[in-house]
Amino acid sequence: MAQGKVYLVGAGPGDPKLITIRGLEALKRSDVVVFDRLAGPHLLNYARPDAERIYVGKLPDRHTMKQEEINRLLVDLALQGKTVTRLKGGDPTVFGRVGEEAELLRKNGIVYEIVPGITSAIAVPAYAGIPVTHRDLASSFSVITGHESPDKLDHSIYWDKVTNATGTLVFLMGVAKIGYISEQLIKHGRTPETPVALVQWGTRAEQRTVVGTLGDIEARVKAAGLQPPAVIIVGDVVKQRETLSWVESKPLFGRRILVTRARSQASELMERIDELGGEPYEFPVIETKLPAGEQAEREIERALARAEEYDWVMLTSVNGVDYFFRWLDRFGVDVRRFHRARFAAVGPKTAEALGLRGIRADLLPESFHAEGLLDSLGDQVKEGQTALLPRGDLARKVLPEELGAKGVRTVEIDVYDTELSVPRDIWLPGMLENGEIHTVTFTSSSTVVNLFEALRRLGVEDPRQALSRCEIACIGPVTAKTAERHGLSVSVVPDDYTIDGLVQALVEARRHTKGE
Ligand code: SAH
Repeated sequence: MAQGKVYLVGAGPGDPKLITIRGLEALKRSDVVVFDRLAGPHLLNYARPDAERIYVGKLPDRHTMKQEEINRLLVDLALQGKTVTRLKGGDPTVFGRVGEEAELLRKNGIVYEIVPGITSAIAVPAYAGIPVTHRDLASSFSVITGHESPDKLDHSIYWDKVTNATGTLVFLMGVAKIGYISEQLIKHGRTPETPVALVQWGTRAEQRTVVGTLGDIEARVKAAGLQPPAVIIVGDVVKQRETLSWVESKPLFGRRILVTRARSQASELMERIDELGGEPYEFPVIETKLPAGEQAEREIERALARAEEYDWVMLTSVNGVDYFFRWLDRFGVDVRRFHRARFAAVGPKTAEALGLRGIRADLLPESFHAEGLLDSLGDQVKEGQTALLPRGDLARKVLPEELGAKGVRTVEIDVYDTELSVPRDIWLPGMLENGEIHTVTFTSSSTVVNLFEALRRLGVEDPRQALSRCEIACIGPVTAKTAERHGLSVSVVPDDYTIDGLVQALVEARRHTKGE
């Protein structure tokens, strides 16, 4: 059997975009991904859909899997010939026990690579506006574990050295010991006025910073109820935060926003949320496919064979355009055969998709839904004309009905099917329960219907209840109605029914809440 290989990959501190390209490549090509809590849910979306995912996470009070068991697991998987990525929070060599994992792999003759990651020791301060070094304030820094039990070390010597070793001191795993740490640093020579910051869940939606001095930080941390994981930064560089803080001022900072649309279409919304400082959480509940079955195909073939007869081709979505052209290709129909037809597109993105294929839409309604198309068609459509409507299987009937009422003959073809997709996600139900999903976005009625079904299949008994704490944002009134029919209270609906409009409306809603 071919021998496997193990990639020991640093996942970065949480923001999924902080993984390295090499790490991402390893992840994409692996048969198995072994991960824990600090290597968050987002990166798993990049694993192959068929890749096995094994959670070996630890919680502060409980070891889900002992380090020895993890080491053994990696060896066993590789001996089975598998390519394995072991994702580790931050950098694998910084308090990551990568040495133990690598050593056992080596002993068993297994090939491995260590892929460095961005350690939380520098990234988390950076996201709080604190550079660990500074030309005038600190020319060196130390990264220290706060987790060691003091009696393991000759601590008077240890603290003496640590306190004065470098300009900036960065402690990981130290929240519970913040009082002891401050006390030791003062005892060994730092003044009580030395600035200190604790940054909890840096680079994530929950990022929170508490600033104080060695003298008062313990009280401040207690008052703020700050919990691990957090990075502690000690030294004058902390003051830089007053001028350099940048993440917190982004309009969607602190918001984790569920994106439910099909993965193939989610990227624009994900990027926009990310740009505005929100944390997009991808959970695609729909998938589009070419419709299967002899009969569906024959119908499309027949409709396309009459290309010359249409007065109109009306496209109502980007998917409609994409799949329409796939079918043209499949049946060898040259688009120029539609020479008599005028093209109508609902929504600027649909028009853009047509434009990419060299077709300028003749008609672009002002309002981005089927009714809008009808209004703007006005007397351009005439009795006796024929319109081809390539659409999804779930398309609403308004358009063909109204066209029919005007005496227009319509030929509807289902160029794609919309199906339920249930992402393999072990986190979402718990995150909803803990209020860790702040906003849910719906970009079509089927995303609403399918999210309810997907949650049920993940074991959520009452999806309405589970979503009741989230801000609900819908792309337009039709989608909002569906959400309301499901018992959700919709608070964000844009005036223009586009992704841009939706994102703008999310930002507005924030301003409103913040009272700006
Ligand atoms: N290998 C990791 C560190 C593992 S030790 C790295 O290089 O980052 C775990 C500790 O890292 C936590 O207790 C906490 O102190 C710190 N940490 C990791 N991710 C963090 C985050 N997103 N925010 C704050 N602290 C974090």
